Amino acid sequence: MITEKIQKSQLQSARKLLDKSNAIAIVTHMSPDGDALGSALAFYHYLHNIGKQTVAVIVPNSFPDFLSWLPASDEIIIYENHEEECKTIMANADLILCLDFNEQKRIGKMADVLDNATAKKIMIDHHLSYASFPDVVMSYPDSPSTAELVFRYICSQGHAECITLPVAECIYTGMMTDTGNFSFNSNHVDTYSIIAELVRIGVDKDAIYDKVFNTYSADRMRLMGYCLYKKMKLYLEHHTALIALDRRELYRFNFTSGDAEGLVNLPLQIKDVYYSVFMREDKDKIKISFRSQGERPVNEYAAKFFNGGGHKNAAGGENYESVAKAVELFESTFKEYFK
Ligand code: 5GP
Ligand code: MN
Repeated sequence: MITEKIQKSQLQSARKLLDKSNAIAIVTHMSPDGDALGSALAFYHYLHNIGKQTVAVIVPNSFPDFLSWLPASDEIIIYENHEEECKTIMANADLILCLDFNEQKRIGKMADVLDNATAKKIMIDHHLSYASFPDVVMSYPDSPSTAELVFRYICSQGHAECITLPVAECIYTGMMTDTGNFSFNSNHVDTYSIIAELVRIGVDKDAIYDKVFNTYSADRMRLMGYCLYKKMKLYLEHHTALIALDRRELYRFNFTSGDAEGLVNLPLQIKDVYYSVFMREDKDKIKISFRSQGERPVNEYAAKFFNGGGHKNAAGGENYESVAKAVELFESTFKEYFK
């Protein structure tokens, strides 16, 4: 038996909006990860299961190959490649579901389209704080994943029977990826009650692990070796590691979206390293990931110096100058915060 988390008033308000909506768009954040896509596609299948026929999943940009097996991932519309189609869908929607993000900035160029849409908006998310634009907000930062909230949402609506195998597989993938295969944020008893239910429905968790974590390219493995052997800088007094890659280095290893996934976690395997930072040069910015262990928040630091945010132990940010400048800014500021 899992505890109730989502407030009744929120469930009721969401239900009212859903009941009277015919055209529904589901939106999630830039560089969608397993939780973003898992939550969005779980909701997509669920809405079909309750009889909604016009449902679209829209993401700002492409997603990594290791998630392309997710049921109905081929139905996802990528805004970057189909801008006009996405604009039309969002303008005509009665309802837009905002999953796994807390503020407009996280959906990049789609932010204006979302702001201009006359649709009602429901947010389900687990990041700290939330923007005020949605009509209904279900924000639970103590939830390890948005996918878990989607499971709770569906059950709380009395629709447990609508959690068919595709819904269950998508939810499991979100839960698994946002907890690093249940290695952090994973001491909640409810998580395992939910997994038990998903496995009962037919989820093959071993197969999902294999599809998500054992599909790297040889280039990505070599990039990983390069990062650890040549690029990892240790600040042992501050229990911190930094890896920073510029465009040329990424090019050398045929970098594609998803290749960076998990690299930031590697230095945390070193004894006494509790903070890890990974920087890479993207098209128009430097993308930065922060990870930490235990009671050592990195989200506030990410917000203060790198225009970002996120969770206590997993945050992200950006810099608009250069890798060298981002490293310089990091080295001149982190010591006071990383202890
Ligand atoms: P990642 O390092 O995997 O990109 O992101 C880690 C966490 O930080 C995710 O939960 C993500 O939502 C959050 N995050 C990443 N980039 C940003 C950002 O630029 N701004 C904010 N507010 N959060 C971010
Ligand atoms: Mn998430």
